[in-house]
Amino acid sequence: LRRNPGEGEFHQTVREVLGSLGPVVAKHPEYADDAVIRRLCEPERQVIFRVPWVDDGGRVQLNRGFRVQFNSALGPFKGGLRFHPRVYLGIVKFLGFEQIFKNALTGMPIGGGKGGSDFDPKGRSDAEVMRFCQSFMTELHRHIGEYVDVPAGDIGVGRREIGYLFGQYKRLTNRYESGVLTGKGLAWGGSQVRQEATGYGAVFFVNEMLKARGETYEGKRVVVSGSGNVAIYAIEKVHQLGGTVVACSDSDGYVVDEKGIDTELLKEIKDVRRGRVRDYADARGSGVDHVAGGSIWDVPCDIALPSATQNELDEAGAVTLVKNGCRVVGEGANMPATPDAIRAFDDAGVGFAPGKAANAGGVATSALEMQQNASRDSWTFEHTEERLEEIMRAIHDRCAETAEEYGSPGNYIAGANIAGFIRVADAMLALGII
Ligand code: NDP
Repeated sequence: LRRNPGEGEFHQTVREVLGSLGPVVAKHPEYADDAVIRRLCEPERQVIFRVPWVDDGGRVQLNRGFRVQFNSALGPFKGGLRFHPRVYLGIVKFLGFEQIFKNALTGMPIGGGKGGSDFDPKGRSDAEVMRFCQSFMTELHRHIGEYVDVPAGDIGVGRREIGYLFGQYKRLTNRYESGVLTGKGLAWGGSQVRQEATGYGAVFFVNEMLKARGETYEGKRVVVSGSGNVAIYAIEKVHQLGGTVVACSDSDGYVVDEKGIDTELLKEIKDVRRGRVRDYADARGSGVDHVAGGSIWDVPCDIALPSATQNELDEAGAVTLVKNGCRVVGEGANMPATPDAIRAFDDAGVGFAPGKAANAGGVATSALEMQQNASRDSWTFEHTEERLEEIMRAIHDRCAETAEEYGSPGNYIAGANIAGFIRVADAMLALGII
């Protein structure tokens, strides 16, 4: 804590991961002897930089850019960029630390990193977003590369932003280095299913949990928070598998649509009109309510998929969900449930999938995008989705088996933390004290 003052979210995630590692260190003292855990908590490199840009009114604006290159024992640093006014070093480090274990769990050759800026894209014109992205990349390009560090999207960074970032990288380096960023458009080096992957993957993961209980999505009521990239495709996949998503949200409130959220309409409102869920309720007409403020966790459901942001589901939300009959929770977002909420789920016997396992489908498909870029190939949607589903099944099984092996059967948090840790720690030991 003293080494990293004021970085609350980073402390929270480190505590959560280290809290699971007691049984591993007891069995393998070599991890403690070589200070593997201490080294893991210290990023290999962090870059903080000035991002000046000119708005549509000709005024100079200033933001701060970050890239935290946390651990490259398994491969080039890999992790998204977040553009949101609340971004600061503690958020980037929390996300980067989570990313190490998530990427390890996928079984793919990728290290962990994360970046972003306190830039708020909301209400900005396309031209302003482009100028910001160009300025951001003007510094970032010195620190990334296909074999070095491969950023992608996150909150506030979608295909539009990746396009502007890639365009500037190409201009500065004079190289069409497709593998330097993932989440690209299909016409310029992107992969099928990348856009859908995090949401689809979270739903696949929960499907494996349901199967283990002899259940399916058929007939289940589901609540998905958020209405961004992860939420939209989680909703789409739940519907394909026979469940009904009755509510979704943004930071202004939530909508309840008992007939099931109309995914095509939601996509149109969010991606084309860049509107709000309130606009969804207006467009859908009578019978669909928008609740301003309030908690989406008041909506009764069998399954909850928090897919908006960190610490959005607190103890009170968890207690309400349990009281209303929710039995499975899968984190589409990174660390959306607070430690108290997780405890409430645990006490009530609710199945809980942590983000580093449940939302790993996004980064796994990014690694598939890197494979396609490296071999100058592009796979079909069906083939790529099959690969994603296989990967999510493997992550599920790895978490379940590891939890069992280390004495916490059914505890996916312990399983994910331990399995991810062992893969990274073994690579670090093999590479020596670096
Ligand atoms: P987007 O920017 O596409 O969407 C974020 C959504 O969450 C928006 O609807 C936003 O609403 C909403 N939101 C943000 N803050 C709040 C809040 N306090 N209360 C309610 N809603 C809120 O981001 P993504 O969908 O890409 O990311 C969502 C989460 O998933 C993040 O935690 C991210 O780290 C994680 N994730 C994303 C991956 C990806 O591939 N995109 C991969 C793995 C994890 P508003 O417009 O009002 O801000």
